[in-house]
Amino acid sequence: MIAPVYSANDGRYNSMLYRRCGRSGVQIPVVALGLWHNFGSHSTMENVRAMAHYAFDNGICHFDLANNYGPEYGTAEENFGRLMESSFRPYRDELLISTKAGWDMWPGPYGNFGSRKYLMASLDQSLRRMKLDYVDVFYSHRYDPNTPIEETMQALVDIVKQGKALYVGLSRYPADKAREAFDYLAARDVPCLLYQDRYNIIDRTPRSTGLIDLCEEKGTGFISFSPLQQGLLTNRYLNGIPADSRMAKARFLKPEMLTPEMMKAITSLNTLAGERGQTLAEMALSWLIHDKRVVSVIIGASSVAQIADNLKAVENVSFTDEEIKLIEEYSSPVQMHNL
Ligand code: NDP
Repeated sequence: MIAPVYSANDGRYNSMLYRRCGRSGVQIPVVALGLWHNFGSHSTMENVRAMAHYAFDNGICHFDLANNYGPEYGTAEENFGRLMESSFRPYRDELLISTKAGWDMWPGPYGNFGSRKYLMASLDQSLRRMKLDYVDVFYSHRYDPNTPIEETMQALVDIVKQGKALYVGLSRYPADKAREAFDYLAARDVPCLLYQDRYNIIDRTPRSTGLIDLCEEKGTGFISFSPLQQGLLTNRYLNGIPADSRMAKARFLKPEMLTPEMMKAITSLNTLAGERGQTLAEMALSWLIHDKRVVSVIIGASSVAQIADNLKAVENVSFTDEEIKLIEEYSSPVQMHNL
């Protein structure tokens, strides 16, 4: 059957909040959609399309990818390329599309980490898979201790000069290396647009490493990934492990994480969310958006209903001092650290 031609919702910019990425001209929605899981070869194109359309129809104009998302490597980008062809091409200038390279992608010495050789080749592959001439943001996906930081950063600068990316970003750099990298890029007039790190109620590492403060100082937008801690900060695991959940696959989110302490924390947080008239997922996102230094949260989803729930977070991002105190109190015993 031929899918009907996609036409975006006219009211798509009416309810979303947009925030500026550091000292740049770019604003992004406070909720962005990430394609790490549920958008690749293990998913149906029907669900991929429904989720992407729903997101864009509701003001999510920032889509976050990486070369190895799917989880089968490359397949989220391939499906995004299908979406470009079937739906999004007329809206290309309304979209902020990011991709990354830094983790293992292909065998041999040139398919991993931070060499110029890897980054340049990987971006060319990503553009082909996504059917794009350029991406809006290209990230170095992680710090590479064995490649001189100047080589990785110069590759990013040159990628922008070649017109293959408009901006660059970094993810998972130690704070001192992020500072060095930000300075290198700024000195070459390619300032780092976004810094991506895991930040959520039960992983507050970027506060203790000083990365959020550093981003503010350097004019780089701080963007949180896994804001729901891969689903732990939702109602998904309050009554066991659903068969279709990420935890049931036990690859990236392990059942061992559901300790009695964790159950106590998420149950208490869920009750507090209910008192605020929110789901736990909504409250977890609102808590992040409440901090103006967080430009955006990149959510994952496996259904349109989850995206719809998460979008409601934008409706109430204010917290009383007492609520903030309770959230910290409930979550402190189960803090994780992504160093
Ligand atoms: P989340 O913490 O938002 O977890 C998403 C998962 O939570 C979903 O797949 C779903 O699980 C569950 N979920 C989402 N919304 C709801 C809801 N309303 N109710 C119940 N359950 C819900 O994010 P991810 O870990 O998926 O990461 C998001 C994005 O961040 C990635 O796609 C990627 O773009 C980026 N990222 C970047 C990294 C980096 O190194 N730079 C690393 C990791 C992520 P289920 O599938 O079980 O239904």
